[in-house]
Amino acid sequence: MKRQIRKILVANRGEIAVRIMRTIREMGKISVAVYSDVDIKMPFARYADEAYPLAGKEARETYLDIGKIIWNARKAGADAIHPGYGFLSENSEFAREVERAGLVFIGPKADTIKVMGDKTEARETVSSQGVPVVPGISKPVDTFHEAKEVANKVGYPILIKAAAGGGGKGMRLVHEEKELEASLRGAQSEALSSFADKRVFIEKYIINPRHIEFQVLADNYGKTVHLFERECSIQRRHQKVVEETPSAALTAELREEMGKAAVSAAKSCGYQNAGTVEFILGEDGKYYFLEMNTRLQVEHPITELTTGFDIVREQINIAEGRNLDLSQERMTRRGHSIECRIYAEDVVNNFLPDTGKLELIREPVGNNVRVDSGVETGNEISVYYDPMIAKLSVWDSTRDLAIQKMLRALDDYVITGVKTTIPFCRYVLQSDDFRKGKYSTSFVEKNWNKSDETGVSNLSTRELEGALIAASFRLRSDAMVNRNGHVPVLKTSEWLKGRFES
Ligand code: ADP
Ligand code: ADP
Ligand code: MG
Repeated sequence: MKRQIRKILVANRGEIAVRIMRTIREMGKISVAVYSDVDIKMPFARYADEAYPLAGKEARETYLDIGKIIWNARKAGADAIHPGYGFLSENSEFAREVERAGLVFIGPKADTIKVMGDKTEARETVSSQGVPVVPGISKPVDTFHEAKEVANKVGYPILIKAAAGGGGKGMRLVHEEKELEASLRGAQSEALSSFADKRVFIEKYIINPRHIEFQVLADNYGKTVHLFERECSIQRRHQKVVEETPSAALTAELREEMGKAAVSAAKSCGYQNAGTVEFILGEDGKYYFLEMNTRLQVEHPITELTTGFDIVREQINIAEGRNLDLSQERMTRRGHSIECRIYAEDVVNNFLPDTGKLELIREPVGNNVRVDSGVETGNEISVYYDPMIAKLSVWDSTRDLAIQKMLRALDDYVITGVKTTIPFCRYVLQSDDFRKGKYSTSFVEKNWNKSDETGVSNLSTRELEGALIAASFRLRSDAMVNRNGHVPVLKTSEWLKGRFES
């Protein structure tokens, strides 16, 4: 069924709202923003052709309020809703309500979201099509007794995971039986508070694995293709920070096999629109399905940079009922792309989220540097939402050149007012393991947490340097601070102090 979409409400905020609205504008369509009280000064609310207040601060009473969002879509005369990622993007009830209101949900069908949103059901569904899943038991465990039995069958170490999980929440690694009871309780209560669903299940914990995921596109008529992989093994708290494509871990054969498995996984649930099939790859080269994210993924830019697709445009085209005129065999990509997620976090203090006013932002620019940002100088990183500030992506013809470009872009990035993940990203890109392409999801635990004091203090020096550059801008200094690391910090801060006091 073909239908024309004219006006799209973006049920999200920050960088992803801006990113989606840019494509809406390029397609000659009209964008509608909805914003909470906290977000009234955010760029996305201004970038939209129209913007409506959601009245409230908490996510629960704004971006998670299905009724309010649909009411605003109707009021604006929108004919479709794009959910972005996070918030209501993987809420099947929302997708259903949107369709019930006579609007187009830009994403898969509600039933698909429901099946894939339950990790235990997803495991069953994809494995029925021959896709390998992590060894484990798909049936949720409730009591300690049940968990003990399953854990013994699966064999330690095990990972307890929330069936409804997402964003790395509700997961507990258990090495031996004596930790099991407390971990089970912990996982269940976190699952309950994060997802209003306390069901957990048990998977074998794969040691030093790599996270490899495939971007898929599927139209409404059964045509399903993938746009190759992304490697997202640099994580903290089971959540991605640095992603790249192609992955150094895949041979051409393995890539082809996993790509086929990703397409089978999508087909197993009658998938429509853009989605991501996540796998975990063991040290032994065996791969297993983890989950399917039924939405636009945070790290989709690196696929766009290497394949030339605009994934949001594809999403809208598919939602309008267009055919995917693509052939898997002829799908190509070029060069190498890396993304760094810039979060407001204290990287030397366990990646603790930071909040505050963004005093000064200067974003990197230049050849093949892409910044997906939703903030500007003066905005606030608040406690209300996710602390992601922006995403920095680069492209170059080879992996080594892409690494060099990313390091340059990170150096050019100035953010003051909050602590950011920039120093951590710089550390990753400079590390031997990353440069050699030999890393796993244990990177943080193995490298970062063990980095010695000099490493850390060097980083703080670099951070200070960033602040100094920013300060020199603010003061419209004639003397720019030398940024190649040789400026004696003490002397420079003395200089700065002088500038402030005079
Ligand atoms: P991706 O797989 O696209 O990298 P993430 O797991 O990092 O996605 O999550 C995407 C965004 O949505 C992040 O901002 C994350 O904090 C948020 N998010 C994802 N799932 C949930 C959830 N179930 N509850 C709360 N926030 C979530
Ligand atoms: P979420 O929905 O929170 O994204 P995932 O199932 O995708 O949950 O897992 C998130 C991350 O946790 C993975 O990228 C991986 O690093 C780790 N992980 C998940 N399952 C396993 C497992 N069985 N063994 C080892 N690590 C795992
Ligand atoms: Mg995941």
